[in-house]
Amino acid sequence: MMRKRQEEFFDVCSRCKTGYSCCNDTTPPVTEERRRIIESYLKEKRVSIKDPFAKKEYVFPRLIEGGYCVFHDKKTRKCIIHSVKPETCVAGPITFDINIRSGKIEWFIKREKICQLAGIVLRDKERLEKHWSVAKEELLRLVKELDGKALAEILKKDEPETFKIGEDCLDEGVLSKLKGA
Ligand code: SF4
Ligand code: SF4
Repeated sequence: MMRKRQEEFFDVCSRCKTGYSCCNDTTPPVTEERRRIIESYLKEKRVSIKDPFAKKEYVFPRLIEGGYCVFHDKKTRKCIIHSVKPETCVAGPITFDINIRSGKIEWFIKREKICQLAGIVLRDKERLEKHWSVAKEELLRLVKELDGKALAEILKKDEPETFKIGEDCLDEGVLSKLKGA
């Protein structure tokens, strides 16, 4: 059974004071499976949102007024699909890159100056390890599920103000998908 996703970090993010919002001007990738999960969650909660997803090179939650994600609640500053949100949203402030030459997935974390949560986990080794393992589980599933073109597009995104915390060998299937993209 999948463990609870990012439960202990929710309050930190809803009180984020960095002036940098993770839910603005952002297009987290949504796989077919994630879309199905989100749609059934919205149905179960009887939340009706017209066309919640948009698509360019990949599917992502539609952006609304002010550049906010359609699932961002302006009043509470919380995500209305928190328990089923996209993988990159769960993993934050941990992000990833893929180095095709070395065959590794590289892990990065945001700097504290742009993310309060990063500061909290970086000061507490146990919390960092715990969150990193959740982030790995989420992001490794994501890179497996995305098609090569979508993944290649996501890797073009710049992640400023982050630094590398480690790397792991990547599944050969993901690498060949990228080579063929
Ligand atoms: S992850 Fe960091 S920057 Fe994003 S909302 Fe949470 S505390 Fe703010
Ligand atoms: S899905 Fe939720 S956490 Fe992710 S960007 Fe949208 S509002 Fe923020």
